[in-house]
This record gives sequence, structure tokens and C-alpha cells, in this order.
Amino acid sequence: MKRIAIVGGGVSGLATAYSLDRQLEAAGLSAEMLIFESQPKPGGTMRTIQEQGFFMESGPNGFLTNKPHALDLARELGLENRLQKSSGLARKRFVFSRGRLHRLPETPGAFLGCRLLSPGGRLRVLAEPFVRPGSRQQDESVAQFASRRLGQEAMEKLIEPMTAGVFAGNPDQLSLRSCFPRIHELESRYGGLIKAMLALRGERRRRGVKQSMSAGPGGVLTSFDAGVEVLIDSLAGCLAKSLRLNAAVEAVSRCNGKYLLSVRENSGSAQCEADAVVLATPAHAAGRLLGVSAPELGAELERIPYVPVAVVALGFDAAALSRPWDGFGFLVPRKEGRGILGALWDSSVFEGRAPAGKALVRVMVGGARQPELARLTQGELLALVREELRGIMGIKAEPVLSRVFFHEQGIPQYLVGHGQVLERLNARLAAWPGFYLNSNAYRGVSLNDCIRESKLAAQSMLKVIE
Ligand SMILES: Cc1cc2nc3c(=O)[nH]c(=O)nc-3n(C[C@H](O)[C@H](O)[C@H](O)COP(=O)(O)OP(=O)(O)OC[C@H]3O[C@@H](n4cnc5c(N)ncnc54)[C@H](O)[C@@H]3O)c2cc1C
Repeated sequence: MKRIAIVGGGVSGLATAYSLDRQLEAAGLSAEMLIFESQPKPGGTMRTIQEQGFFMESGPNGFLTNKPHALDLARELGLENRLQKSSGLARKRFVFSRGRLHRLPETPGAFLGCRLLSPGGRLRVLAEPFVRPGSRQQDESVAQFASRRLGQEAMEKLIEPMTAGVFAGNPDQLSLRSCFPRIHELESRYGGLIKAMLALRGERRRRGVKQSMSAGPGGVLTSFDAGVEVLIDSLAGCLAKSLRLNAAVEAVSRCNGKYLLSVRENSGSAQCEADAVVLATPAHAAGRLLGVSAPELGAELERIPYVPVAVVALGFDAAALSRPWDGFGFLVPRKEGRGILGALWDSSVFEGRAPAGKALVRVMVGGARQPELARLTQGELLALVREELRGIMGIKAEPVLSRVFFHEQGIPQYLVGHGQVLERLNARLAAWPGFYLNSNAYRGVSLNDCIRESKLAAQSMLKVIE
């Protein structure tokens, strides 16, 4: 029987294994599958901590339904009745600018009246349809694209904070095509963003689809009744026979047409032979595993940078708050010079994240903007975040609960030229049949993207087994 090794038990590794298992069953094939996860728990960045009735996410707080992949997986796992949609309030998003929170407009009328941008800045956005499309081939940075199409002010107050919200990244360095492929495609296909929006609305109207505007990225933010870890627990439950926890893979090499993995477990180190391998670890970890057997491939992988993010969760008595948290949360543009990237009002977004009469906020710190802040001590981070929440939201109350989650290698950065990095990786991997790289380091960081890519990786693996 053929053996497949999957290294990494985050959502990418688990979803690959699950999808492969289903595809093997459907094809009437069998293979031995082993999933190696170095930590005592699977899930990687996806973890939900329950304390004093609060449900705190260490990383992602959900997925959007504008792509089907996470929702389909949840349904396949029989989790339909555990899905939890965000409240209508999640559509209300804010940006902090010049001393106050501005609600992001959801309609053209609201955009005209929104004071976040100056009148000149708003006019410049409205002139977007008259801007000629850029070259399809050029790999522009997010900042170049946004200032070219929408103007410098919209770049600084809308696009820069949005990029920090998704990638914790610097728009001057990130590739538009790799980070936001849909936006790149809309310009290529329709000639501009406003033209694309109008054309898509027209298409939906013709198809009789209900239209809704949103200040966010579209789709409904969705999680599970006990947080995102429900998805991980369910996947891990289905894969229990294959999952080896506390099992760190230290090296991978190719030998006589097979792959050899050196695995360190509590019981000691051992070698494991496999016919096919999926490395579902962060790129830097994959690079280290290949450092001896394929140094050039390893070095290429280690060059994909990551930025650190600290997530500070604070619980409060709702009565002690000076304003109700009636929205998704807010982002802070770099220009404001503050010490946080933004905050998510989790208890307003999802019911049951805080006990009755309490409220839960999670604050993001660090990223490419201020990596040093994500490395402060727990005490320093709590002091920084409380100071910022006092300044931005007027919260003077003592928190009833606090928790800090550190993600030292938090989010991969798809820099300008990322597409070429992927091409070079693919070219090198041509000499390694049955070997795949699949994690958030390559073709999308969202849970939807990771799950979509996992299904594709599993399809490729199936060909090796057939
Ligand atoms: C703060 C934060 C907030 C986020 N919010 C959202 C959100 O709201 N919505 C959304 O869609 N996405 C969000 N994301 C992104 C999303 O969470 C990640 O892209 C996704 O979880 C990555 O999954 P992964 O399996 O590719 O990688 P990881 O979660 O990093 O998993 C990799 C796994 O590999 C294991 N591993 C590493 N080296 C080895 C080794 N040598 N041997 C064995 N195992 C190894 C690790 O222990 C880990 O478990 C967020 C990310 C962060 C950091």
C-alpha cells in the first residue's frame, strides 16, 4: 500500500488529508496516510480559548461566504447546524482618523457624505472610471495600484489600513496581483473598479440576485457556535487514526524514488518512508526541512517573509463602556501614528463570544508596520493596548479578563515578484514527483483560500496513488 505523509496539522494540512481521504474512498482506492504535527494540538493559528465564559480566537475569527470552500467543507463534515453567521452589525466597519472613528460608507450617497476623505479625496475616487487600466503584465504594489486608481488619500485612509487588516502588511511592498487577485482581475476585465462594480450589479440584477452593499469585502462573515476551532476538532476527529501529534519532522530527502522523513517524537527520532509528501507548514519551516537535501529550494522558501502579530483579547463589563460596540471594529491607518493596527469587537460580531453583560474586543498589534511592538512582553502589550483603547474608544474601565496571543511568524507576505517565486518553486519541484507545498504561504492566506488549495493538492496526490 502506498504511503502519504502530510507535514503540518494546521487547516491546510488537515483539509488536504480530509479531502484526500474522501477522494480515495470515492475512487475505491486505499493508501496509508500520516499527518505529522509538531505541537500537542492541531490547528496551527486556528485556536479558540474558552475562559470565564468568553470565547477568544487566537487568530482567525471566521470565513467569508463570498467564496464557497470553507462553507462546503463545514457542510461535508456535518457541521451545518453549528455554523454561526455574524450579526448584521458586522457590516458596520470603522476607520480611525483625525481623532475619531468614521463609519465606512455602504452606499454611494453615504460615500459622498463621509468625512473620512476630504472633498478633494472623494472627488478623486469618483474620477476612478476615467483612469486608464494599468498593464496586465506588470506586478504592481498594492500602494501603486491604489494611488493610481483611487488617489493618494484613499490609498492612505482606506487601502493601507485594509491591507494591514488582512495581511498585517505594507502596501508599498505587497503585490496586488498575488494578495488581491480579484481586484487585479476586475481592472483587467472591466477597465476599472467602479465600472466593474456597476457591470457586476447589472449582471446580478439580470439574474434576479438580491443586491446588498457592504463596507467590507462581501459575503457574510461566518464561524461556528463555539468558535473556529470547531472546524479543526471535526477534521482532527475524522483523521484521528492518521494524526500524529508532538511529531516534528526535522528533514525530508529524496531517496530511490521515495521520500525519507526524519521525525522527532516524544519516544525518540525515527525515519519514515513515503511515496508522496505534502509540506503544509509555513514556508520558512518547509525551507528548513529541505535545507540539506535541496538547499536551493530550501533557500527560496525561506525567502518568503512573515510578519509578527500579537492579538490582545480584553473582556469588559458592558456597562462600563462609554459607547456601545455596534459594528465589526475599526482599522487604524499608518498615518495616524498609533500603536495598534485595529480592533475587532468580537462580542458584537458573534453572539455568545462573551457572557451576558460583558463585551470582548481583540486588538491587533505589530505587523510589517511595527514588528517590534508584536514582540513586547505581555505586560507591555496590555499597557499599550489599554492606552490606545482609552485614546480611540474612550475605554477607561479595568478589563475583567485579558489574554495575549503571540504569532511570531504570523502572516506570510506576498511581495511584488511573489508570482515569480512560485514559478521558480514549481520549476524546482518538477524534479520531485509526488511532492507538494500547500500552506497559506503561496496562493492565499484566508481560510477559504487554504481549503481551496488543499482540495487541489489532494487531487494531485490522488494521481500519484492511482
Ligand atoms: C492573527 C491572525 C488573524 C487571522 N484572521 C483570519 C480571519 O479572520 N479569516 C481568515 O480567513 N483568515 C485569517 N487568518 C489567516 C489564517 O488563519 C491562516 O492563513 C491559516 O490558518 C493558515 O493555516 P495553515 O495550515 O496554512 O498554516 P498554520 O496554521 O501555520 O499551520 C501550520 C502547522 O504546521 C505545523 N508545523 C510547522 N513545522 C512543522 C514541522 N517541522 N513538523 C510538523 N509540523 C510542523 C505547525 O505547528 C502548524 O500547526 C488570520 C491569521 C492570523 C495570524
